[in-house]
Amino acid sequence: MHSVCPKQTTLKAPVSIEGIGVHSALPATLELVPLAANMGIIFERADLKTNNQIVARITNVVDTSFSTTLGNSHGVTLSTVEHLMAALSACQISNVLVKVSGPEMPIMDGSSAAFVDLINTVGVIEQDAPRKIIRILKPIEIKEERRWVRLEPSETFSFQLGVDFAGREGLQPEDYVYDFSTESFAADISQARSFGFYEDAQKLYAAGLAKGSSLDNAVVIKNGEVMNKDGLRYKNEMVRHKILDAMGDFYLTGSLIQGRCVGFNIGHEFNNRLMRKLLDDKASYELIDCVANLANEKEVASKTDKTFITFGSSPKSFSNPQSIAAL
Ligand SMILES: [Zn+2]
Repeated sequence: MHSVCPKQTTLKAPVSIEGIGVHSALPATLELVPLAANMGIIFERADLKTNNQIVARITNVVDTSFSTTLGNSHGVTLSTVEHLMAALSACQISNVLVKVSGPEMPIMDGSSAAFVDLINTVGVIEQDAPRKIIRILKPIEIKEERRWVRLEPSETFSFQLGVDFAGREGLQPEDYVYDFSTESFAADISQARSFGFYEDAQKLYAAGLAKGSSLDNAVVIKNGEVMNKDGLRYKNEMVRHKILDAMGDFYLTGSLIQGRCVGFNIGHEFNNRLMRKLLDDKASYELIDCVANLANEKEVASKTDKTFITFGSSPKSFSNPQSIAAL
């Protein structure tokens, strides 16, 4: 079922989890606290007393070199936000305060699975405010020699991504087509882990970086072979993780997207540039008030679920131009 709640949502109750930071290897605690409607997603460095909040926003991305790092105007930063952002996006959480014990998010197992589980332990509640959705009106793209990405109009939120590992020995290119729903994310994307190459990790360790990185939180590849004892979780786990990262990075717009993302060899930097380009070009999208655009959706909704609006799964909904605004 492809459905998006037309109302904003938050968590039913606070919930927390502990892990380590991937760069520092130090303990990192995360707490998710419900927030009122229209507050959005706000990160808070619990180890700092002042100027400690950073709004989850595309323009607050200050570094994309290893992960997505947010920062505020006071120079306070928080790194590796993308895997939680992907889980919040997939679970359709509109408003939440994210309290973190230090400068890094807990890496958990390198995927979004622990965060999805965490959200599901308390569940979500609807709030009395309409959800906003970004609807793509014209293609936006970025191209470079060996990588490119395009976001184009579509009736659903979907991805078609490829990765070729820059010709690393022994690795076959991967591609994957993914059509968003909360359920499909949990099954097909959420467990896909970060990945890296053994040789690169040795260089990072030597530079004092990625100290918390290990086979417990990444797929590590050496000479074309996966070093993790239990192998891969999905046949094409790496490209699925690229989709996970993109979903997290895209959700820094504050909204789910009605559009199709097609790309090759993308990463955090490309994701952020694409979203900045999108938001800078006001003719490329419209921000839809989900409820206001769902006047004709009652019939479709009543056939499936009283709470959630269905899209994509009903051919009838495609014949009605208004109904596709449901995302
Ligand atoms: Zn990632």
